[in-house]
Amino acid sequence: MEKIRINSPNVSYSEDVIESHFTYQTTSVSRDRDGTLVATPVNTQYTFQTQRKVPKLGVMLVGWGGNNGSTITASILANKLGLTWHTKDGMKQSNYYGSITQVSTVCLGNGPQGEIYVPMKDLLPMVHPNDIVLDGWDISSLNLAESMERAKVLDYNLQVQLKADMENMKPRPSIYIPDFIAANQEERADHVLKGSKQEMLDQIRRDIRDFKQSTKVDKVIVLWTANTERFSDIMPGLNDTADHLLQSIRKDESEISPSTLFAVASILEGVTYINGSPQNTFVPGCIDLAEKRKVFIAGDDFKSGQTKLKSVLVDFLVGAGIKPVSIVSYNHLGNNDGKNLSAPQTFRSKEISKSNVVDDMVDSNDILYADRTKPDHTVVIKYVPYVGDSKRAMDEYTSEIMMGGSNTLVIHNTCEDSLLASPLIIDLVVLAELCERIKFKTESDTTFQSFNSVLSILSYMCKAPLVPRGTPVVNALFKQKACIENIMRACLGLAPINYMMLEQKHQ
Ligand code: NAD
Repeated sequence: MEKIRINSPNVSYSEDVIESHFTYQTTSVSRDRDGTLVATPVNTQYTFQTQRKVPKLGVMLVGWGGNNGSTITASILANKLGLTWHTKDGMKQSNYYGSITQVSTVCLGNGPQGEIYVPMKDLLPMVHPNDIVLDGWDISSLNLAESMERAKVLDYNLQVQLKADMENMKPRPSIYIPDFIAANQEERADHVLKGSKQEMLDQIRRDIRDFKQSTKVDKVIVLWTANTERFSDIMPGLNDTADHLLQSIRKDESEISPSTLFAVASILEGVTYINGSPQNTFVPGCIDLAEKRKVFIAGDDFKSGQTKLKSVLVDFLVGAGIKPVSIVSYNHLGNNDGKNLSAPQTFRSKEISKSNVVDDMVDSNDILYADRTKPDHTVVIKYVPYVGDSKRAMDEYTSEIMMGGSNTLVIHNTCEDSLLASPLIIDLVVLAELCERIKFKTESDTTFQSFNSVLSILSYMCKAPLVPRGTPVVNALFKQKACIENIMRACLGLAPINYMMLEQKHQ
């Protein structure tokens, strides 16, 4: 039962769906022969249908025994059980801080006393994270209680309470191809599948089916939170089309990565696949396969800390008419992610993922960037074991201000990396699942359609958003959040939030 009901002739509720009729207002711009820009308002009528029944959701994590995998598992369990624990600072309570679906609020509209805010999760029927059933794979054989202890993320008093439940959770053996991750990971790879690439892919498909049947979940989503891999080469005939990719897997081609095998297995099972790491899992053949099978894919790379702030700060600076000219980011971290990133090939994947994050904001202002020269942008990552999961990120932003002046902002960020990434995993799967229940059509369509297979709505959670071919990448964080919020409002026949507040500006 929904917590919000819409009172409008444009919205109707049947037993199965919420149907809304929505006018999408955009502006089409062209240039006249004399160079004048001509802006034309365009109205498109949409009908949205959102299925009301929330399914029982199963999530399979690749890298389940890692810091993120064990932290999200422990956090969901702790929230479900309502656990509290003592620390030297007093009593702490389980929560989902950092999740926009669970903890952010959105303005629904105006009440007699002013704006009414509601939790984002109440806008449309959504899976509650406490109800998610988890499973997954890891190349390390530790059970989830041991993984949680190895991760050193959660307080000891909480770990003690979770241990008995988490001991029973054991990852399934996974695909390990040493060439794709750092050599220093070999020591934990004691739980690996044997056989050809085709055989391993078939085993992953069987695992997905087995999980679905044995837990009786209605739906499964697979999410990669395993080690960052090096980039794969993209070559004609190898992985450029769906057919070539499937053929290359059959031929056991060396350049097909474990993560691409997981994505292909999920797509062939009709299961949404999300990539939380920076590597190019979604080679063109993989995207092609997802489009042909009409299965959702999303990624890349969780946008959790430094990059999230960057996508706010640069948007603010450029939007304020200030010109960032140099952005230098240092990180040091001591968890297994940092260890894996200490190899040049895996670091390169992260560097690429972090590098394009300011492009859309720079491109939006050709007064500041008239010569199209982008700011100098450098990213350094160092492995320092002692700091563990408590990542340190230091950023220096230098900008040109009025009349030749200069402004430097220095930001130092310290916190457990996995406690920033875990709520993103929740939002990614909860929102992806919601998107599977939304269909829409315009006046000129005869049938309803789903969103494009490349689920760019999840960009808010991703450092290097994957978008449908030929569409612009948006990195600016508040635009990304507004996209999520306003699409949900459209499903309810409500106008997008516009911040004009005209009703409060009368005399
Ligand atoms: P982690 O090293 O603790 O966990 C990764 C796990 O994956 C390990 O348990 C490892 O044994 C396992 N693994 C490696 N290859 C595998 C394979 N082929 N199949 C199955 N399991 C495999 O790392 P983490 O801190 O949990 O981060 C996970 C990923 O998320 C990393 O790629 C990281 O770059 C990315 N990421 C993390 C954050 C964040 O934590 N804030 C932000 C952005 C991206």
